[in-house]
Amino acid sequence: MTAPELSNTLPNTLPPINFAKLQPIDMDRVGRAMEYTCRRIGHGQYDVWDIKEPLMVHKTVDLCSNDVPRCDCGDFLYRGEDKGVLCKHIICCLIAESHPVAIQAVVDWIKAKR
Ligand SMILES: [Zn+2]
Repeated sequence: MTAPELSNTLPNTLPPINFAKLQPIDMDRVGRAMEYTCRRIGHGQYDVWDIKEPLMVHKTVDLCSNDVPRCDCGDFLYRGEDKGVLCKHIICCLIAESHPVAIQAVVDWIKAKR
């Protein structure tokens, strides 16, 4: 039995994110992203909420509409669009998509905790 093709285990296409326009992923936000979960609602689009407070207002993330992801939270409004900071909601969705950059950030976060 052969290993499955990579295309069978990952989304067909990664979001077209231009990481050159973004800050390196912030480790504190990686930790907070793991307190959130998300539900895919469209191509690259997610409904995101706090695992402990599922009835609180959800955020909407779009990984694909532009060359950088978007979120409707305050962190993205003030630090995302102009300064290129990825908020915890966007990081949560990138983890859900198994995006290699996000997975590496999680690995770095775990290493820093040791
Ligand atoms: Zn956000």
